Amino acid sequence: MDNTEGVKERDLESLTFEELTEAVVKCGEKPYRAAQIFSHVHAHAAASYEELNNLPKSLRTSLSELYPFAAPKTEALQVSRLDGTRKYLFRFADGASVESVRMSYHHGHTVCISSQVGCRMGCLFCASTLNGLVRNLTAGEMLAQIYAVIRDGGERISNVVVMGCGEPMDNYDELVRFIRLLTDMRGQALSIRSITVSTCGVVPGIRKLAAEDLPVNLALSLHAPNDEIRKTIMPSARKWALHEILAAMREYYESNRRRLTFEYSLIKGVNDSEECADELARLLNGYNALVNLIPVNPVTERGLKEPSREQVIRFQKKLEKHGIHVTIRREMGRDIDGACGQLRQRSELNG
Ligand code: SAH
Repeated sequence: MDNTEGVKERDLESLTFEELTEAVVKCGEKPYRAAQIFSHVHAHAAASYEELNNLPKSLRTSLSELYPFAAPKTEALQVSRLDGTRKYLFRFADGASVESVRMSYHHGHTVCISSQVGCRMGCLFCASTLNGLVRNLTAGEMLAQIYAVIRDGGERISNVVVMGCGEPMDNYDELVRFIRLLTDMRGQALSIRSITVSTCGVVPGIRKLAAEDLPVNLALSLHAPNDEIRKTIMPSARKWALHEILAAMREYYESNRRRLTFEYSLIKGVNDSEECADELARLLNGYNALVNLIPVNPVTERGLKEPSREQVIRFQKKLEKHGIHVTIRREMGRDIDGACGQLRQRSELNG
């Protein structure tokens, strides 16, 4: 689906400052009105035209007909009793729903957003993909998730990770527009270094991003030390081989000098052996890499289990012995449908 054509069909949050200025002028107003609107929408997370109360009513009326707000309704909110993680189910005007999560760390709040409704990548362990791709999200719909979280919590956000439902590189143009808007000095002005994009390894997307002047942190969902195992859990591995993906990651590193993250979901009996750890260390030898180990969040539909804590530690130790930096992802919100797509999945199944 292409939602990048024609500015007319855009939501308000998706408009760049320049597009907004053009729209305001077309409505017969002075260009400075665009600065007011942009600040309301992006710096102050406004969600409706009623909130733009320093604008003439006529401008609000004409703009609202052309560019409705993307701002979703909060359909469900779960708050973890363990660590305060807040998991949202948002619903957009067309009925499409996505998940977003706010995690709180000592250094601030991180929001994990979705980039698509559903996903077509088909990873075996991921709940987002169970019903395939429904549609892409617009840049505005990606921003609107963050703004809804800001409104709800009443606090600033310090980091954004594009690791919710969907494959961001499968929605490339909107992803880039989203990053530019989120870092715009007239809006949230988030530092580009506070944004992380995670991909299952869509080579053309990684290479295109390497050529943009957008040094976000890049994370690769690796999950296996070789193509053979990878193909059994990630269908995209049949399209892009590891050597091509790693070459693209290296290209990204060369142009942005950002340390690369490799995510590795440990699945019992599939990719958690010590041989896998050795092979992984060989594969990443020479990269400025951080390996993020994630004991797989069990998805009952697929019957995949996480290894024991001891096995996870053994895997970590082995990698460290080879000089690889490793973190074990703190399991946030385990009591509230932690894994990607689980909340949405449950809500859709329940009607
Ligand atoms: N499509 C992108 C981003 C979304 S998934 C990507 O593949 O990177 C975000 C991360 O969560 C990915 O590393 C994904 O592989 C992982 N993930 C998905 N389901 C999971 C599960 N059940 N347990 C652990 N990690 C999971």
